[in-house]
Amino acid sequence: MSDSDQIKVCDQCLRASCWQGVYMCDDNLTAGTTRKTIRELRELKLEHESYWKTDDELTDDRIAEIEKDTFIDLLRRIDS
Ligand SMILES: [Zn+2]
Repeated sequence: MSDSDQIKVCDQCLRASCWQGVYMCDDNLTAGTTRKTIRELRELKLEHESYWKTDDELTDDRIAEIEKDTFIDLLRRIDS
């Protein structure tokens, strides 16, 4: 991840955690998304940088979650 990477954030509160549904702001229902670079987000100091993920990283996380769910489901089937 480099300073010029673009991160998708809520266009009202400018937080990635809001867009990802972790901490939603009051305007989240009507808010859209915008993009900020890591450098801009660092200057804003709104949230911990662990929330700043590029689209590729978010996709990887989602795939990992689906794989985990599938694995747990498989274990349940074997167990019963
Ligand atoms: Zn928001």
